[in-house]
Amino acid sequence: MAPTTKECDFLVIGGGSGGLACARRASGMYGAKTIAIESRFLGGTCVNVGCVPKKVTWYAASVAETLHLAKEYGFSIKETAPFDWAAFKHKRDAYVKRLNGIYEKNLENDKVEYLNGRAHFTGPKSVEVKLQDGKTVAVNAKKILIATGGHATLPKDIEGSELGITSDGFFELETRPKKVALVGAGYIAVEMAGMFNMLGSETHLFIRHKTFLRTFDPMIQEKTTEEYERQGVHVHKESAQTKLEKGSDGKLTLHYKDSSNPDGTTLTGLDTVLWGIGRSPEVEDLNLKSVGEIKQTEKGHLEVDEYQNTSVQDIYALGDVCGKVELTPVAIAAGRRLADRLFGGEQFHDSKLDYTNIPSVVFAHPEIGAIGLTEPEARKKFGDDDIKVYNSSFTAMFYSIMDASQKKPTSFKLVVQGKDEKVVGLHIMGEGSAEMLQGFGVAIKMGATKKDFDRCVAIHPTSAEELVTLK
Ligand code: FAD
Ligand code: NDP
Repeated sequence: MAPTTKECDFLVIGGGSGGLACARRASGMYGAKTIAIESRFLGGTCVNVGCVPKKVTWYAASVAETLHLAKEYGFSIKETAPFDWAAFKHKRDAYVKRLNGIYEKNLENDKVEYLNGRAHFTGPKSVEVKLQDGKTVAVNAKKILIATGGHATLPKDIEGSELGITSDGFFELETRPKKVALVGAGYIAVEMAGMFNMLGSETHLFIRHKTFLRTFDPMIQEKTTEEYERQGVHVHKESAQTKLEKGSDGKLTLHYKDSSNPDGTTLTGLDTVLWGIGRSPEVEDLNLKSVGEIKQTEKGHLEVDEYQNTSVQDIYALGDVCGKVELTPVAIAAGRRLADRLFGGEQFHDSKLDYTNIPSVVFAHPEIGAIGLTEPEARKKFGDDDIKVYNSSFTAMFYSIMDASQKKPTSFKLVVQGKDEKVVGLHIMGEGSAEMLQGFGVAIKMGATKKDFDRCVAIHPTSAEELVTLK
């Protein structure tokens, strides 16, 4: 039987952060006849296996930390207060399911037609969709957006690597692993190691260098690595893995070497090994060759100009599939700007996302926030003589009445440039950093100088007040 054929102004492949934001604005605000295709669950990575369930788990870990510290404030709470991972997971899954329903309703409200299936191109303006119910639909569109996101990368050269999980598997764990190893040094490995550790798992983090989060300012790298070790995470530095194997008892053994074991050794009795070594664009089964010469980077990311145009006329791409700044609000903002430009009329003909000064947070323990240039980047760009750096390291008041062994550090760094001392970078680590950064981000985006920071009267007693009193 010939597939049903549909026609539309705008076809969006991928129902994640970027795709949904763009589709809803194109249809809901500008009336473009829009179809959105999603092969798994609406909301994409962020809602289903990313930001949302991650932050809920981070909250659970923070509750565990507070319970642990409660005695410092005079509460007698049993150290062994059990954490019911299965019950927690059940509630977290139900929340995500609720969100899936809300996303579907939102599409309906904005009159976006939703197809639940897997899409691949059959030509530059045509796509075939294999629906979940087994049927096939052909769609012809005037314009097409590729917002298919990415998936976790698995190591290629480590025997038995498939015995490990990725961040997707983290959200499927039904019980808390007693002993876990994570490999990687970016957002995911660091966030998940922090959560496992706080929730009571024996946690081993394998990194290739001496510090993790190496795209962040050196202050963040050094202090966070040090703090994780202080909190009891076993950080295996300058490590490499050769093999993962499963014993008859179901436990995993990781073969590796690191700075303490240069000749190689094993870590046995592991319940879980998690690879957090980066993500790859989800383009493999899009049949891109059928659209003509679409440019991709070496890693497969789609190349776009500043307006999200690919190298093929009327085909656009944004979000993780482009691999520029892999964050949900970035995908959403790019999606909305693109819908404005394509369907919003003359007033939006130049609409595009400015990718500079995007704030970002790592939900580590403690939280980390950063915006703008790191100190080395600023020195390289402007020269040493044009850069000044303000630092502050202190103990947040929350820890003031605690035993020294319980005190977590807070460290801030402000990087300023030129005679006016324009703020070009802000790097913060400590309690409340995630919430703190958004407001400072507004100021920095507006071009704030050190003097502007200083002119704002401090809010006392907070950690954030240190940022407007730096000397
Ligand atoms: P996605 O959200 O990945 O959506 C792409 C969608 O396309 C997917 O649903 C996929 O099923 C669908 N798809 C793919 N191929 C096809 C096809 N052929 N046909 C139909 N559908 C298809 N960002 C933050 O800002 N803050 C955070 O705290 C944060 N935490 C994260 C934690 C984890 C564990 C991970 C993995 C990511 C996290 N991110 C976070 C990143 C964030 O999730 C992504 O940047 C964001 O989801 C990217 O949106 P997107 O629309 O580009 O892609
Ligand atoms: P990242 O790209 O952030 O980090 C992966 C890191 O792992 C690399 O930088 C590298 O660090 C290390 N690595 C790479 N290959 C290997 C290897 N073979 N063995 C050991 N280590 C390796 O990827 P993530 O998967 O952590 O996250 C993907 C993206 O998702 C992030 O970049 C971020 O944009 C987004 N995200 C955002 C979050 C947030 O906003 N809070 C949370 C989670 C994800 P090195 O070179 O130092 O070895």
